[in-house]
Order: sequence, then C-alpha cells, then structure tokens
Amino acid sequence: MNHLTETEIQDCALGTAGLDQIEHLSSCPLCDSEVANYRVILATMDELPQPQLDFDVTELVISRLPQPPVTSPTPGERWVYVIACFVLALLFAPLYLYRNDLLKMTRDVQPMALCLVGLTALVILVFHVREMYREHLKKLNALISGDLQL
Ligand SMILES: [Zn+2]
Repeated sequence: MNHLTETEIQDCALGTAGLDQIEHLSSCPLCDSEVANYRVILATMDELPQPQLDFDVTELVISRLPQPPVTSPTPGERWVYVIACFVLALLFAPLYLYRNDLLKMTRDVQPMALCLVGLTALVILVFHVREMYREHLKKLNALISGDLQL
C-alpha cells in the first residue's frame, strides 16, 4: 500500500484533499494519525497570539522585492496612444453631435422595448462578471498552490 505524500496529508488536514486521499485515510491508521498530528498543529497555530512587532513588516518586505523598471513610452507607443485617442474621438463625436436626435429616437421607442434591451444588457453583464469571478478564483487557487504559469 502506498501511503499519502506529505503534501496529500497536509491537504487532508486542511480539508482540501481529494476523494482518493480521504478513502486512503479510512483504511490506513498511519496516515490518519499523521493527519491528526497536522490538525493538532494547525489548531495550536490558530491559538497562538499574533506577533507584535515594533516595525512594519509590509514595508520591509516590499522594499526587498525586485522593483519593475520604470519605463516611459517610446515614440512609437506615443503615436499608438495618439491614434487611439483620435479613433475614440471619431467614434464618440457623432454621439455627441447628434445627441438630440438620438434622444428623440429613444423617446419614440416603446418603454417595454427599452426594458428588454436593458434586461438583456444586465443578463450579459451578470454572465461576464460571473465568468471574471471564476477566472479570478482559478488564478488565485493556482497562485496559492504554486501552479501559476506566467
Ligand atoms: Zn497510508
């Protein structure tokens, strides 16, 4: 019988283990006792008082992290920004110039149709936010487990 690895035993103690590991625990007293030891350690760690330090740990750690190089946009990148601003101005200028006509158009639309358009936009927004949240959790879990591929 292959016993659980140290990581799998820690996962069992943290409650994040898979079904195979949990099944193994029910049949292996050695691994089960290892998990019990980890649970005692975790419970003891939770009871420890928070350390009171006379300096700011966050500042100390941040100051030791490698800083990203400060770069200013190259002339080519500046042109991209200028062109992007120009394109955006071209897109939104008609909206601004014909705003009164556009408002008249929306007045003639049935309120029920406007509600349907708004409801559809809301449903799409909800799905997008849900998908973004799932992706965020997935990346967060990958970051915590150390599997994040950058
Ligand atoms: Zn075992």
